[in-house]
Amino acid sequence: CQKCLDRIKKTRYLNAYITVTEEQAVAQAAAADERFRRGTPKGPLDGIPFAVKDNFCTENTETTCASKMLKGYRPPFSATVVQKLLDQGAVLLGKTNLDEFAMGSGSTDGAFGPVRNPWSYSTPYRDRSGLDPDSDWAITGGSSGGSAAAVASLSSFLALGSDTGGSTRNPAALCGVVGLKPTYGLVSRHGLIPLVNSMDVPGIMTRSVHDAATVLGVLQGQDAKDSTTIRPPMENFHLPDDIDVSKLRIGIPKEYHAPGLSQEILSQWSRVADILERAGARVEAVSLPHTQHSIVCYHVLCAAEVASNMARFDGLQYGHRSAEDSSTDALYAATRHEGFNGVVRGRILPGNYFLLKRSYQRYFLKAQQVRRLIAQDFAQVFSAGVDLLLTPTTLSHAPSHAHFIQEDNRTRSAQEDVFTQPVNMAGLPSPLCPLSLPALRSALPIGLQLIGAALQDRKLLAVAGWLE
Ligand code: GLN
Repeated sequence: CQKCLDRIKKTRYLNAYITVTEEQAVAQAAAADERFRRGTPKGPLDGIPFAVKDNFCTENTETTCASKMLKGYRPPFSATVVQKLLDQGAVLLGKTNLDEFAMGSGSTDGAFGPVRNPWSYSTPYRDRSGLDPDSDWAITGGSSGGSAAAVASLSSFLALGSDTGGSTRNPAALCGVVGLKPTYGLVSRHGLIPLVNSMDVPGIMTRSVHDAATVLGVLQGQDAKDSTTIRPPMENFHLPDDIDVSKLRIGIPKEYHAPGLSQEILSQWSRVADILERAGARVEAVSLPHTQHSIVCYHVLCAAEVASNMARFDGLQYGHRSAEDSSTDALYAATRHEGFNGVVRGRILPGNYFLLKRSYQRYFLKAQQVRRLIAQDFAQVFSAGVDLLLTPTTLSHAPSHAHFIQEDNRTRSAQEDVFTQPVNMAGLPSPLCPLSLPALRSALPIGLQLIGAALQDRKLLAVAGWLE
């Protein structure tokens, strides 16, 4: 724990943490030490330091969603996932940086500034990129970039992210750590400040697949405070030491050969497919025909749920309140104008439009129907006997910050989420497998994602562990 705290201080320039709960962490770690001395540790996570994305509520500890709107907000309770970790003796190090309200895929759009990718400071990258890391650096991806940077820079062993359209897998890929998006409903969302309730899941970031499996075993479970949670199919996720991949059928969705996919990702994708094939797995092309419509529908549904979720930030109940109080309406408007950044306001507006009586049928309902077709595409492939899909996660390795912020926001996230959000539309599990750096040309990490049928989290993790 002390080493992690030291490391947080040494890597301040990454801007991975918004809040560091040092005093609390030291006390928790001392209590864990005491349990070890007495020979009564609570379990596998006792004493293990962890970091939490700042859109999960933490009792009495500021929870900002990287927004001015929530500056100073200290929730009176902890999210179920945070509480479960604390109950296991895990030690909370602090809250990690993100895009404001988890809207984004760069971790560049939060009120506390962008997160820097730790690999930007590695010698091979510096030598090859020609970038001066003081003035420019690679982004972490997002929106859980602070959590990914924390795990990648070794300032935490474990970090929680959230994944609504790819926010755990995207930064995990760009920072070279394991990232798991569990099946929707397997892990409680209670206390995760909502983005898109029908797609949000807490995500797990670790240094190894085995660690992610252990954490999932602790976090999963029905929660009376989240009516969408389901009873888990198994008690824990202890992975087999060796699995037989030779019986697996692995699908390569042809629609994922998307425009803009970098040569490097393409070649790594076929390299990993070859590795699986050489081990005896059957690797075959499959089709998910509605994939091309997914990104548009995701953005309609996301905006609609955002418009409804953000309505609670009115300046009266909690968080920021404007000084402009000439009327109630003026107070609402000024508070929301001052509190939200342009990305958030840019989703609330179309979201309210999609939800108008006259556009509901045409946009919201239509997007829901296409969402069903996207889920059915996956279901058909899996019911035809395919065990899992192997796909890219991002179009390329992390772009530099200067490059990333050039493009206009909407096109940017529309491109970035192309491979990740269909999984959220369908509620499926998906671990991100980082690829080993020596095999890459870029000196910046990339990763591939596995996708499986609902509740196949363990099988996917076992394969991810085999690839590791
Ligand atoms: N980039 C996506 C978005 O901006 C994903 C966000 C997320 O998963 N939290 O909506």
